[in-house]
Amino acid sequence: MIIVMRKGASAEALAEVKKKIVKLGYQPHVIHGEIRNVVGAVGDERGKEKLQIIASLPGVERVVPILKPYKLASREVQPQPSTVEIVPGLEIGGNEFIVAAGPCAVENQQQICETAVAVKQAGARLLRGGAFKPRTSPYSFQGMEEDGLKLLAEARELTGLPIVTEVVNPRDVELVAKYADVMQVGARNTQNFALLKILGQLDKPILLKRGMATTIQEFLMSAEYILAEGNRRVILCERGIRTFENATRNTLDISAVPVLKQQTHLPVLIDPSHSTGHASLVAPMCYAAAAAGADGLIVEVHPCPEEASSDGPQSLRPDDFQRMMDKLRAFAAVAEREMAD
Ligand code: PEP
Ligand code: MN
Repeated sequence: MIIVMRKGASAEALAEVKKKIVKLGYQPHVIHGEIRNVVGAVGDERGKEKLQIIASLPGVERVVPILKPYKLASREVQPQPSTVEIVPGLEIGGNEFIVAAGPCAVENQQQICETAVAVKQAGARLLRGGAFKPRTSPYSFQGMEEDGLKLLAEARELTGLPIVTEVVNPRDVELVAKYADVMQVGARNTQNFALLKILGQLDKPILLKRGMATTIQEFLMSAEYILAEGNRRVILCERGIRTFENATRNTLDISAVPVLKQQTHLPVLIDPSHSTGHASLVAPMCYAAAAAGADGLIVEVHPCPEEASSDGPQSLRPDDFQRMMDKLRAFAAVAEREMAD
């Protein structure tokens, strides 16, 4: 249920509403609006009608059901877009079109540091790089694990770029959180609810990728798992879905951007690398993402893609990335977004 407070309702009235929600066995989530506050009361769907009683409390304007199965992620609960702070002075979902870039996997110090310097120079605001890799084959390179995280931290030290890196296994959450600024949930873990619940308890932004066979509703239910645990800093990422088409690695569902924008207040990024699988297709999809209203991109860049230990064919060389970024500015401007110099 959504409890809509009256304009100018007192802090005491809000506190009473929260107390009553808890007493009825639900969790209150307050969304502070410019004009009025609303409180989402979430919990067991059975018996939620008993929350109607709250309508009679002082300062309450009305109590309305949340129609979507995802609650805290919905625009019903929060009509205005969320901005997710990554580090002070850097947020996703605001006016700036944000680009995260870097290799699929961290391979060695020179590779990650050289890439970090190059992507920063081109205007990227975050550095990506996997230290735990969810590979299709158990015989493929699985990532450098903690050594990789340490190299990411070194690259952050060198460039000032915050790090986004994937956590694959719930038992590694604590370790990855020690180094990461943003924790990535990969497409293979979108519905790993045990992992999502743990990440919901962290005080850190989560980049949640869409699974290759998850509907938008299922994707938002996964976000809801994180939000329901109390972590509001969720960023969604469309990275392509499985279809019959095999000219591309996956099919980029670009319409997911406006659909998500209608249904959720959470920011949305596009991953043009895993969705296309080919470096030559990455730039057009970056422009499409900006034009469609995405909040940013996460792009794979490698100093020498032919030697990459994973995802070389879809990785941009630093000079191609620079050219893409230069052209991207015009698309971002048309979408009324700024980009850093
Ligand atoms: C990645 O970002 O390197 C990755 C494995 O992505 P996805 O989970 O989208 O396949
Ligand atoms: Mn990859």
